[in-house]
Amino acid sequence: MITGQEAAALRDNIARVRERAAEAAVRAGRSPEEVTLVAATKMNSAERVLFAVENGIAVCGENRVQELLEKYEQSAYGDADLQFIGTLQTNKVKYLIGKVSLIQSVGSPRLAQAIDREAGKHGIRQPVLLEVNIGREESKSGFIPENLWEFLEKIADFQNLEVRGLMAIPPANPADGNCLHYFHEMRQLFVDISTKKYDNVNMACLSMGMTNDFEDAIACGSTMIRVGTAIFGARGAPR
Ligand SMILES: *Cc1c(COP(=O)(O)O)cnc(C)c1O
Repeated sequence: MITGQEAAALRDNIARVRERAAEAAVRAGRSPEEVTLVAATKMNSAERVLFAVENGIAVCGENRVQELLEKYEQSAYGDADLQFIGTLQTNKVKYLIGKVSLIQSVGSPRLAQAIDREAGKHGIRQPVLLEVNIGREESKSGFIPENLWEFLEKIADFQNLEVRGLMAIPPANPADGNCLHYFHEMRQLFVDISTKKYDNVNMACLSMGMTNDFEDAIACGSTMIRVGTAIFGARGAPR
């Protein structure tokens, strides 16, 4: 059960995040409508997620397949758009096709191929974003920026994929204290790719920015922010 206090906090948080995102857009000379808010729903119950959806969240991003399937069964996502934002193993792709409108985290040719194959079986074209390892971190998945170009040339082979843009999760503790230069690099890469013509690629979406840095990301051209903590509170905290 969601208590009255929790409900009020969730409503307030959603309103506050929207307001901050809109202000950041305006400060950057952009329209607030250019930025889509994706609620990162991991570790939140189906009930809390549904409450958020009923209170204005139009897009949910889940990052574990098992958790997504459980909440999907519980109708947690209501009318919201459901996207996948986490690390994805090729053998789990089949559970997502037909359920998610966007897979944000395609960070290898192998995963792209697996999604292409499954989408083909379902007779659909699956929208995806290419994940870029902009901080060149050993521990992270995603394309290293200079490797992206070679892959883009090959996307024509994946007729059941529709690349809609790029996604990045910059280093959690950047050396100079913020992620601005990573966001700028992402924006530059996004623009550079947009000016070229590749089959199955339509650079519409630049997904970057989370609770701690979504305003900076919007200032640098993000069109999609993925926010968890600022909406739902600290994960695992007593509620
Ligand atoms: C959890 C998560 C987020 C949101 O993180 P917060 O810092 O809680 O806003 C964004 N993107 C991905 C891929 C995530 O897993």
